[in-house]
Amino acid sequence: MAQVLRNTTSMGPLVTLIGAGPGDPELMTLKAARALAEADVVLVDELVNRGCLAHVRAGAKVIEVGKRGGCRSTPQAFIEKLLVLYSRQKKNVVRLKGGDPFVFGRGGEEVEALRAHGIAVEVIPGITAGTAVPATLGIPVTHRDVARGVTFLTGHARDGAEPDWQALVRSRTTLVVYMGLKNLPKIAGALKSAGMDPATPACIIENGTRGDQRQLVTTLAGLRGEGFAGPALLVIGDVVRFARVAARQPHTRAA
Ligand code: SAH
Repeated sequence: MAQVLRNTTSMGPLVTLIGAGPGDPELMTLKAARALAEADVVLVDELVNRGCLAHVRAGAKVIEVGKRGGCRSTPQAFIEKLLVLYSRQKKNVVRLKGGDPFVFGRGGEEVEALRAHGIAVEVIPGITAGTAVPATLGIPVTHRDVARGVTFLTGHARDGAEPDWQALVRSRTTLVVYMGLKNLPKIAGALKSAGMDPATPACIIENGTRGDQRQLVTTLAGLRGEGFAGPALLVIGDVVRFARVAARQPHTRAA
């Protein structure tokens, strides 16, 4: 039966799950900055630009929980354990993740785990890389003259399952691939086999919105991942023809 749910104010332990945006610290929301300033404990992902931590008050505990944070073996279980531990101590706990926490960020898994422990979660959305990073080149991912919409997909599915490439090609949506660098030759090959024109405009954008952003603007046939190592997006579709690489991006702060 359908149920109308209201937001309730929880008196029990609470974790605030925050999206830090794609990199440039100024692309964080005001709500995120306010919540960070009120935090006692901040668990921060590797992807988050350290400039975002400027809002954290002196004396708050900042814990780096990315893969380089010393918990390589069971990062997810370890993170969830820490969140439970600190929130039960009535600390004001913030979990800070890159982009939007619910777009390929495992935010959903963390919410589930916390709720299973009786911990409430407040979510503060962030700007996802999938729209903000193409925008640095002036790429409008849903320009209605050339795209019917946009599809966000991962190039690295946990179960290794392949998407329906033919359906994606037929969809005539802009394809924005997160975590696609490693499997780039496979992805490009699959799209060509599914009938996508090799001359379709495409680009790779690395470290988008950061001071060290780099990009390759090319076609599907010309996509090469060599030389890129940082977090990178693939953008494939006619909208990429709007890309302009400025000599300098005036609103990108060096990070
Ligand atoms: N929750 C994040 C995505 C996490 S998955 C978000 O909403 O943006 C991590 C992947 O996101 C990276 O492998 C990369 O594909 C993409 N990504 C995140 N930040 C990026 C950036 N600044 N530039 C390019 N790609 C980025």
